[in-house]
Amino acid sequence: MFIDKNYIEGLLEKAKNATREDVQAVLEKAKKREGLKHEDIAVLLQIEDKQQLDEMYKLAGEIKKSIYGKRIVLFAPLYVSDYCVNNCIYCGYHKCNSFKRRKLTQEEVAEEVKILEKMGHKRLALELGEDPVNAPIEYVLECLKTIYKTQKDNGEIRRVNVNIAATTVDEYKMLKDAGIGTYILFQETYDKDIFDKVHPKCLKGNYEYHLTAFDRAMEAKVDDVGAGVLFGLADPKFEVLGLMIHNEHLEEKFGVGFHTISVPRLRPAKGVSLEEFPHLLDDEMFKKIVAIIRIAVPFTGLILSTREEAKMRKELLRYGVSQMSAGSSTGVGGYKEREEGHNVNQFETSDERSPIEVIRELIEDGYIPSYCTACYRKGRTGERFMKLAKSGDIQYVCEPNAMTTLIEYALDYGDEELQKKAEELVRREANNMKREDIKELFLSNLEKLKQGQRDLYL
Ligand code: SF4
Ligand code: SF4
Repeated sequence: MFIDKNYIEGLLEKAKNATREDVQAVLEKAKKREGLKHEDIAVLLQIEDKQQLDEMYKLAGEIKKSIYGKRIVLFAPLYVSDYCVNNCIYCGYHKCNSFKRRKLTQEEVAEEVKILEKMGHKRLALELGEDPVNAPIEYVLECLKTIYKTQKDNGEIRRVNVNIAATTVDEYKMLKDAGIGTYILFQETYDKDIFDKVHPKCLKGNYEYHLTAFDRAMEAKVDDVGAGVLFGLADPKFEVLGLMIHNEHLEEKFGVGFHTISVPRLRPAKGVSLEEFPHLLDDEMFKKIVAIIRIAVPFTGLILSTREEAKMRKELLRYGVSQMSAGSSTGVGGYKEREEGHNVNQFETSDERSPIEVIRELIEDGYIPSYCTACYRKGRTGERFMKLAKSGDIQYVCEPNAMTTLIEYALDYGDEELQKKAEELVRREANNMKREDIKELFLSNLEKLKQGQRDLYL
């Protein structure tokens, strides 16, 4: 197996002896923006010196800025079923937790989608518990079909990323054929002993099967995969090295690593108390980890959910995070229920702001909120995407696409004030564009949007 606990622990031990010069050498290497090997990352994880930490944050911020510019991609989760045969002790949906389970009918899925579209969303992450009887792959495929075909006014979902349990090559092929965006699966923890402990007697408890899920997904030609761990289950430094070694494994075997990495932190949930978890990480360690991941894999999207408070989200955007959820509900049928004032969430959320509030603040802070979904629809996925990203040329499409989707959002869902601010922002940005041809194309698209055309992208 490519994850070896003794090896990772040994590496972390050895890295404790790294000198100032060793740390400096890794920071210098990181400046080339070519990513780092896990041995180097172990060194960064052991930095304690304030000056070197500051230098690392600064570098993470610079890397983030040079690759992602001011763009922040927004999305929302859609929970369709909370039936689950698993026993994950950190999750409110585990099978021993008693509450009335439900799975949405296709009519209910469509209702949720319409509410999400009304909020302006274009990208969703489809979420459901593991239950081969109540929510088999056929149910997931049906949901995907419903989501893509539910369009109202100018609302449409253009990319659905899917987070379902580890499965077979055949089922991944079905997801691929159904037009999924990224296949998301969190390893939860790379520490096998803890993995076994937090997944007692259940399907998900097979560490190796879970760990090799992306190999099977890639064999099925699902080439955008999104990883993550649930920070707080095990030693966070161990988890970061686990993520990096997993990424290297995929790069070596399939030519492309993670498309995204998510960084959820353990949160309280119904029937889950945080007291049983000795590895909870404080804000300082969390920030350090986000910065290190950004430096380690500069071209991998870094995703933050509404588990974190607005203040923390704002800070992490500066040196790492490139995508975040907004206006999320983490309960099945939660969007409709929220409108009615009650819901059961998978975990507690901390940022309760609506997308329009998030967007306003992002614009005020100088960011360009983006609903872009162009790459997947242009076939820029997997290795092809990574090549373009690493060459730096991706920015020539990302930026105008972000600006186009922002204007689309403002015209369809914003008020006059937001429309004005969004237009001022994109015109200012257009003036700074390096390529004249792209600038002209964008400005002509801006006019077309105002005349009612939609879904324009490069
Ligand atoms: Fe089920 Fe997923 Fe929760 Fe585990 S984390 S109990 S698999 S919904
Ligand atoms: Fe993402 Fe591609 Fe859009 Fe850039 S152009 S924001 S990489 S989908």
